[in-house]
Amino acid sequence: MKALQTLREQVPLAPLTTIHLGGPARYFAAVRTVAELAEALVWSDGQGLPVQLLGGGSNTVFADEGFAGVVLQVAARGFTFRERSGDVVCVARAGTEWDDLVAAATARGLGGIECLSGIPGSVGATPVQNVGAYGQEVAERLLWVRAFERETGKVRQLKGEECGFGYRQSRFKGADRDRFVILSVALRLSPDASPHLGYREVAERAANLGIDRLAPVEALTAVRRIVLELRRGKSMLRDPEDENARSVGSFFLNPVLSLQAFAALRERLGPMADAAPVYPAPDGVKVSAAWLIGAAGFHRGQRQGGVGISQRHALALVNRDGSTRALLALAGEIRRGVWERFGVQLQPEPVIVPYDPRRVGP
Ligand SMILES: Cc1cc2nc3c(=O)[nH]c(=O)nc-3n(C[C@H](O)[C@H](O)[C@H](O)COP(=O)(O)OP(=O)(O)OC[C@H]3O[C@@H](n4cnc5c(N)ncnc54)[C@H](O)[C@@H]3O)c2cc1C
Repeated sequence: MKALQTLREQVPLAPLTTIHLGGPARYFAAVRTVAELAEALVWSDGQGLPVQLLGGGSNTVFADEGFAGVVLQVAARGFTFRERSGDVVCVARAGTEWDDLVAAATARGLGGIECLSGIPGSVGATPVQNVGAYGQEVAERLLWVRAFERETGKVRQLKGEECGFGYRQSRFKGADRDRFVILSVALRLSPDASPHLGYREVAERAANLGIDRLAPVEALTAVRRIVLELRRGKSMLRDPEDENARSVGSFFLNPVLSLQAFAALRERLGPMADAAPVYPAPDGVKVSAAWLIGAAGFHRGQRQGGVGISQRHALALVNRDGSTRALLALAGEIRRGVWERFGVQLQPEPVIVPYDPRRVGP
């Protein structure tokens, strides 16, 4: 009965999220073992209550009314490193703070996730949207995920290639939303690796430091520092003191357009077409959502109804002292603006609970 012993009623959700929005959860419990998780799920089903999983709350926006069900947090923490055929396998429990793991890996000279430094949230959520930054994403290093399948009550091990990873996408966010609870994650890390320098701003700063002359551990920790500095400059770190960081990070995905849709966009952009930052994508062209938002007439620092756009990043919507309703209204306006001006549909990146696509327009 451990999980149910920790079950609390009417728990405010806003403080459990980085954007500090949302009303109370009817019930909330932190679960530490598979037995506690199973018990909490059986209890919720018995009561006919929906369940929402929560990690660090850095990619979740709860409704102002709160959640009329059970919010479950997988709280088991800790990680191990083991050598295996020239690589090192790191197994981490879902409740571990992701950045603690990155810090420990880089400090050991293990490469592969150094550019993912400073991403807020839990290890268990990283496969959900295949977190990525500065040219790396978790899918590249993920060996397997151990997950509790809610329908069967069984623990399954899913290989990386079974996770349906794409750009900020996976089966856990798509077709199998709500099917699995991720318990732990295994990553393949590379000893004595050179840091990844695939992103211009990182590469330039690393070159200025003379990164080529540094030993692997020093080079990896230097790149971690560079990434953390860059992120701080954009308010993209969890920082309670920074009002621009009261966000969920990027609110919109960069749209991936087919070559045909991209040609149509270029036509609509006219003389501005060459100014739009674009990146190659497997299925077409990825266009900078931040640039489209700016070109559609929205600007950093803009405020309305207690919410606004970050002063430091056009993709981050921030909560000053507003509400989820105001946030989604602003998001809807931005979506409509970009759609009307450029014919491009921006998709929200965070998980909006309960999800109702009508609330973010257009
Ligand atoms: C300032 C800031 C910067 C950010 N920068 C980046 C970035 O650079 N790149 C990037 O990709 N993301 C970024 N994000 C988004 C966010 O940090 C990531 O998506 C992160 O992985 C979310 O982790 P979390 O534990 O906070 O997830 P939560 O918000 O708690 O949950 C997110 C989703 O995962 C599900 N989930 C959580 N735990 C589990 C579990 N154990 N099993 C199954 N499902 C689970 C939840 O149900 C929910 O659907 C940023 C966010 C902020 C606030």
